[in-house]
Amino acid sequence: MKQKFFSKEEFNEVGHGGIEQYGAMSYKPGFAINPLKFLLGIANAAKNAGVKIFQKSKVIKIEKSKGKFIIISNGSIIKANKVVMATNGFYKDDIFPKLNNMILPVISNIIITRPLTTEEIKSHNFITNNPVLNIRNLLFYYRLLKDNRFLFGARGDLVGSEKSSLEKSKNMELQMKKVFPNWNNVNIDFHWRGLIAITTKFSPSIGKIEDDEIYYSFGYQANGVNTAPWSGNELAKLIVSNSKNLNISKLYKGLPSKFPFPKLRLFYLKLVLAYYKYMDKN
Ligand SMILES: Cc1cc2nc3c(=O)[nH]c(=O)nc-3n(C[C@H](O)[C@H](O)[C@H](O)COP(=O)(O)OP(=O)(O)OC[C@H]3O[C@@H](n4cnc5c(N)ncnc54)[C@H](O)[C@@H]3O)c2cc1C
Repeated sequence: MKQKFFSKEEFNEVGHGGIEQYGAMSYKPGFAINPLKFLLGIANAAKNAGVKIFQKSKVIKIEKSKGKFIIISNGSIIKANKVVMATNGFYKDDIFPKLNNMILPVISNIIITRPLTTEEIKSHNFITNNPVLNIRNLLFYYRLLKDNRFLFGARGDLVGSEKSSLEKSKNMELQMKKVFPNWNNVNIDFHWRGLIAITTKFSPSIGKIEDDEIYYSFGYQANGVNTAPWSGNELAKLIVSNSKNLNISKLYKGLPSKFPFPKLRLFYLKLVLAYYKYMDKN
């Protein structure tokens, strides 16, 4: 990893300005991608290799009969010798009881502005198209897209309804405009959100459930765009080769411990967020 440090003035020349710019650190490798294009590329490669992909097939239950998995989805039943849990933050406890109480799903939220004019971009010296993270505990992540729209992301709301998502997006718009005040009159064209998976291990968990043909890969702690496909590749080697070992860091191998008193997961999250919010203000 190659790092480079920039003073406030230096970063103003190559990165951006704004109210909360105090200097920066960059590291390689690292660059932005369009995750949807990436996903469609992987799906196409899988299809070309003969994989059948079924969309809109939510798995409701998995049972076992005569050594085979009976996978019940809305509308169809599939029989399989092996199954992989790869639903990350969207995992709902009880589909695989041995994986229960290990994931804290957290909402991450994104807003996107209308395309900025050249003047508006210049007004904050926004030069880089690289993704930027600030160093708040509850950090903002942002980047200038190729069509000059500005993408701004932060932790999402705690409710998960359409209303709470809209409120959170409005709130994030205020936060964004506080950091980049010259964009006060810029409208937000899009907002969306999704779930990321936090675990007690704070690192991905990849492996196989002992004495069963259930494989898993989850817990990317909000950094799964590159890690999830890499994990999938490593897991595939384990599944296809029937080898007992994954040739990966010990940190990633095996399951995380369960959350203590798992029903309190949302409460724990609220406590941590309140603490971080307080720290970020001071
Ligand atoms: C707003 C936001 C911004 C993010 N930004 C970044 C970023 O900048 N960089 C980064 O590295 N990561 C980022 N992440 C995290 C990243 O998106 C995830 O880590 C990554 O998508 C995990 O990939 P995955 O394939 O394991 O799971 P997911 O992409 O979450 O996909 C899981 C899939 O499982 C499906 N599923 C769930 N339950 C069932 C079921 N019962 N039956 C059938 N299907 C089911 C879901 O519909 C979903 O399609 C962000 C996440 C969000 C929400």
